[in-house]
Amino acid sequence: MKQNNQDEKVQQKKSKKDKFKLYKPRKKKSGEEDAAIQYLQAQYDKINPDAIKTFKDFPLSQKTLKGLKDNNYVTPTEIQRQAIGYALQGKDILGAAKTGSGKTLAFLIPILENLFCKKWTRLDGVGALVISPTRELAYQIYETLRKVGCLHDFSAGLIIGGQNLKFERKRMDQINILICTPGRLLQHMDENPLFDCSHLQILVLDEADRCLDMGFEATMNAIIENLPPERQTLLFSATQTKSVKDLARLSLSFPTYVAPHEQAETVTPEFLQQSYIVCEIDEKIGILWSFIRNHLKQKVLVFMATCKQVKYTYDLFCKLRPGISLLALYGTLHQEKREKIYNEFCRKSNVVLFATDLASRGLDFPRVNWVIQLDCPEDVETYIHRAGRTARGVFGKGEGLLMLLPHEEKIVEDLRKNKIPINKIAVDPSKVVAPQRKIEGLLSDNTELKQTAQRAFVSYLKSVFLMKNKEIFNVQLLDTDAYARSLGLIVPPRIRFLHKYQKSNIPIKTSEDVDNVSVLSKLKERAEEDNRTDQSSGDDENVIPVENKNKKLTKELPKFDFHNDADSEEDDFLQVKKTIVDVNDPIVEEEEKQTSKKKKKPLTKAAVAKKLLKKKIKVNTKLKFSEDGEAIEDEKRDVKSELAKQFINENVGGIDIEKAKEVLREEDKFDKIRFREKVKAKHKEQKRKLKNKKKEEAEEKDEFGSQSDSDGPDLSWLPDPDKVYGKKDSGDESSDRSDTEHNSSASDDESEEKYHRPSKHKLVQSKGIPQDSVAPRKKKKLEDISASLSIQEAEALAMQLLTQH
Ligand code: ADP
Ligand code: MG
Repeated sequence: MKQNNQDEKVQQKKSKKDKFKLYKPRKKKSGEEDAAIQYLQAQYDKINPDAIKTFKDFPLSQKTLKGLKDNNYVTPTEIQRQAIGYALQGKDILGAAKTGSGKTLAFLIPILENLFCKKWTRLDGVGALVISPTRELAYQIYETLRKVGCLHDFSAGLIIGGQNLKFERKRMDQINILICTPGRLLQHMDENPLFDCSHLQILVLDEADRCLDMGFEATMNAIIENLPPERQTLLFSATQTKSVKDLARLSLSFPTYVAPHEQAETVTPEFLQQSYIVCEIDEKIGILWSFIRNHLKQKVLVFMATCKQVKYTYDLFCKLRPGISLLALYGTLHQEKREKIYNEFCRKSNVVLFATDLASRGLDFPRVNWVIQLDCPEDVETYIHRAGRTARGVFGKGEGLLMLLPHEEKIVEDLRKNKIPINKIAVDPSKVVAPQRKIEGLLSDNTELKQTAQRAFVSYLKSVFLMKNKEIFNVQLLDTDAYARSLGLIVPPRIRFLHKYQKSNIPIKTSEDVDNVSVLSKLKERAEEDNRTDQSSGDDENVIPVENKNKKLTKELPKFDFHNDADSEEDDFLQVKKTIVDVNDPIVEEEEKQTSKKKKKPLTKAAVAKKLLKKKIKVNTKLKFSEDGEAIEDEKRDVKSELAKQFINENVGGIDIEKAKEVLREEDKFDKIRFREKVKAKHKEQKRKLKNKKKEEAEEKDEFGSQSDSDGPDLSWLPDPDKVYGKKDSGDESSDRSDTEHNSSASDDESEEKYHRPSKHKLVQSKGIPQDSVAPRKKKKLEDISASLSIQEAEALAMQLLTQH
């Protein structure tokens, strides 16, 4: 059976090859070109990478050599020197080389040469396919190809999402070199009848490990199924896959492994200086802000875990105006915007770009000075790619700063094990200025910004929650309240997904650390408390111990200094030197501990308050004076309860929250009594005023007998007709009420007034002003009658009604 299958496959391959021959159009070849091609191809087997000094030493076409020279590519980089020869020989390649080491040309040159030697034309269709995990990287590869291959006659196409599908469709059959992202390519394969890659010669996966990882698994499998198996395959990445499964998926059985930097001391670029700091979650925003404020003349790339964090930080920092251009790049942005931002960041030199890991792979932004990783990278590979956005190309320099939470520091071990030289540094806290008040102010004014902050908060926690490595990423260990506060959110948003998860009673995978377990249980309690109350209250007893616990878990705030703009002359603040501490060195480590002990403690508000209390200085007391200049005693300020008096006398220093609460409760009883007395007094006063008024009115009546004509006769003494007919009209009344709500903005109080205060209202209505639907029908009848009567007649009618009643 197996044999049969194999035979079938061979047959299929043969028939495909025949098909290929049938389809391949015969071209008129100039004898000269033929001879040149033959000469070049004859040289391929003789290529010795060690003997290659310049690109000219490779057997390359004149068109490629000129394209390289015109773009100042003279000397090949190490990966180019080693990989191009094998690729020209038609071998499958697994290329692994550091970030920024020139892998793009290592596959673009063989593509051009392969198709050139095969005399590929537009009519031959897709000859080479380059797959990139992101649109920006595809675009970058396409641009490099256009530059280097400008003298060749091939047509190149960029097929990425977010573009006009119809436009792409029409041109698909004419493209020879296709640069694409996996999703869009599969879409064309599925939907576009013009798409045909049955003659494909070379398949390249740039950032191959990313293309082959779980995120693209299904898409890539479907693409590979559609490709002819007899083709050359080149895989390139700084963190190359060696997984046999991956290679088998691509039908690579014996690829040539090219890894020029395998024996190098480090896996990251030589001139990349890497450091990390450990800080609390609520310090991150302040540190980032201060960093940017101190690097206004530099090009900085900041990585964050999620799109929503990038969006919020960008929106917020734009409003805070740091004095440098800000940009944000993330996946949910519209394609046009993404392109614009990408180009802008390439072009500018003093700029900060906030980005997700979308920008971590392959992008060759020129002259990036700093890469900041605000959130811990998912794994070592992600770290390498993020940090590799700086110090690119030949002799490229740059610096990387990784910000870690105390429990995330474990990742440093992994980094060092993987040959990444990274030093712990400290920043002087006095140099960190967190614009906390401003942020809170901005959020209180701007609900949209507040919502963005809330989304950022939840999305970060979600991203941590979804990470595989629970040793490093554990949402239960995060001080979420402090994080929310640092984003400007006074009330932390509810973390529904976490509550649901906790309710489902799935065991939480964490380290067996006893301390952590107790923190977990506390956090669990708090989560349940949050479920009960909409807002998590600050004085909730469940909250306080957790925060304290978290504080205990963390070491004293690390002191760290900023590196400053080398060319910045703005301010002394920027001239602070960086302390590089090699944590591997025990002596240095000890020194660090001692110096940190010597350094001054930061002066906190609590410390100032304590000092004042010790000195027994009364702070913030307010005295009111009467017009005669005598001090008025404010009884609110006087404590009544014995407990409070005792508390004041005893309390010489420190704050005992529990006792203070008890005192407040006692004082509250007296406050309530005071309040009741005040209300009683007010009511008395009102009654007195009403009495006086009635008296005055009665006196006035006695004086004038009746009111003036203009006011009309006073019929207020008449019984309320609603009360007379009221019971029968109850149905009408309710319908009237609903009408009132519907037709006018009159409140319930107002409509009630219409029914129960007959005097002037009734008069106005009776004078023939159209009555709205508010008045009951029978009441209307009565009013119609009264309108046609004289005063005497009306009086007589009223008397009659009274007697009837
Ligand atoms: P990688 O893909 O390995 O991360 P790139 O291909 O993006 O690296 O190249 C990094 C930078 O090095 C680019 O700016 C590119 O123009 C430059 N570069 C590549 N090859 C050479 C070369 N032979 N000589 C000079 N610069 C080069
Ligand atoms: Mg690359």
